[in-house]
Amino acid sequence: MIFESLAEKLQDTFKKLRGHGRLSEDDVNTAMRDIRMALLEADVNFKVVKNFVAKIKERAIGANILESLTPAQAVIQIVNEELTQLMGGSVSRLTIAPNPPTIIMMAGLQGAGKTTSVGKLGTMLKKQGKRPLFVAADIYRPAAIKQLQVIGEQLDIPVFTMPEGTNPVTIADEAIKHALSHANDIVIIDTAGRLHINEELMQELKSIKSTVHPHEILLVVDAMTGQDAVNVAESFNKDLGLDGVVLTKMDGDARGGAALSVKAVTGCPIKFVGTGEKLEALEMFYPDRMASRILD
Ligand code: GDP
Repeated sequence: MIFESLAEKLQDTFKKLRGHGRLSEDDVNTAMRDIRMALLEADVNFKVVKNFVAKIKERAIGANILESLTPAQAVIQIVNEELTQLMGGSVSRLTIAPNPPTIIMMAGLQGAGKTTSVGKLGTMLKKQGKRPLFVAADIYRPAAIKQLQVIGEQLDIPVFTMPEGTNPVTIADEAIKHALSHANDIVIIDTAGRLHINEELMQELKSIKSTVHPHEILLVVDAMTGQDAVNVAESFNKDLGLDGVVLTKMDGDARGGAALSVKAVTGCPIKFVGTGEKLEALEMFYPDRMASRILD
C-alpha cells in the first residue's frame, strides 16, 4: 500500500515522542531528524523535505507546545496540518466552463495511464450527468486510438476520430465543433504520449492548446515513478502550463514521494488519483484525507 513504510516510520517517531511525556528541545530535534529520514526514504524531493521539517520545527518550538500537557499530540497535529498544506491544502476541483463545452486536455508520457484516465474521468463526469465526448488525438499509435474506442464503447461515450494522417490540432479543433453540434458538454482530448519528453511532443501540445484553449490541462503521471513523475510534471508545467495533475497507480506500493512533492515543486495541484485498473477507479484528491492516511 502507498505510504506504508512512511506511515510506519512516522508512527514509530510519534510513539517515541509520546513515551517522553514532557518534551525537551532535544526530543523535538531527534523527532525532526527521524521525520526527515522517513520523508527522504519515501522519495520526497530533498528541498521539499528540508522546508517541511524546518516549518514543523519552527511551529513546534515557537508555539510553546513543549510546555503543553500533551506536547507529542501537538507535534502530530502540526505534522498533520503541514502534510495537508504540502499536498495543496484543500481539494482542487475541475474547472467547468460557464459556456459548454468544457475542454479538458490530457497529457502524459506513455504508460502513465493517460488513456485509462480519460476513460475514468469520462465515467466520473457521466455519473454527474454530463455528456462527454472523447477525442482520439494520439495518432502515432493506432493501438491508442483503438484502446480509446474500446473504452468509449464500454462506457457508451462517443469517441471522435478522423482519418489516418490528420493532424492532431485539426482533430482537436474539429472535435470541438462536433461537440457543439452534438450537445456534448465536456470534451476530453487524449493527446499523444511519448516515451520521453521531446520538443516535437511539446510543440504539438502547445499547438493544440493555442488552437482549442482548454479549460483544463491535466498531466497524467505514474505515482510508482516517484521523483521522475515530479520532474516530468515540472517540465510540462514550464513548457505547456498545467492546471492539475492526475496521479495514477496509487493502489500500488509507491512510497508516496510523488504525491507529497508535486504541489510543492510545481505549484500544480493533484486533482485526481487513479486507484486501480478499472474505469471506476478514480478519486478526487483530498490532501487532508491523504495526510490522515499517512498519520493514522
Ligand atoms: P497511457 O500510455 O498513458 O495511455 O497508459 P494506459 O492508459 O494505456 O495505461 C497503462 C497501464 O497502466 C494499463 O495497463 C492500465 O491498466 C494501467 N493503469 C492506469 N491507471 C492505473 C491505476 O490507477 N492503477 C493501476 N493499478 N493501473 C493503472
